[in-house]
Amino acid sequence: MIFVIAEPCPLGCYRVVLVKRVTDNHVFAWCSSCGIAWADPAKETWQLGDMGQAELHACLVADGSVIEYATPEDIKRAGLKDLVIAESAADSYSCKSIEQFNATYGCDTKLIEKARKTSEELRRERA
Ligand SMILES: [Zn+2]
Repeated sequence: MIFVIAEPCPLGCYRVVLVKRVTDNHVFAWCSSCGIAWADPAKETWQLGDMGQAELHACLVADGSVIEYATPEDIKRAGLKDLVIAESAADSYSCKSIEQFNATYGCDTKLIEKARKTSEELRRERA
């Protein structure tokens, strides 16, 4: 499952989803379409056009880590459960976008492998 917290993203592209850094499980918000991330999702309004100082390229929030879609446990632990507006199945676009991000910005091959496996699991879950 993928947890959506805004649709569309404040830039008007696609949805914003919750992901996590694999290195320390920090949960943050990410728009796979524009590549922007928000390190502290609870501080944002998610209104269209509401852009402030918090927007960063996702690789800066990920800080060299590969990322994965946040699980319900991650989201609960991060206290972000109330932000979730929709749950969506891990479709091939979603799996591909996170794989692509990790292939480009993730530096730890072991973690990339783990992320790929997770993506495959998500894909299997969907099938
Ligand atoms: Zn966007």
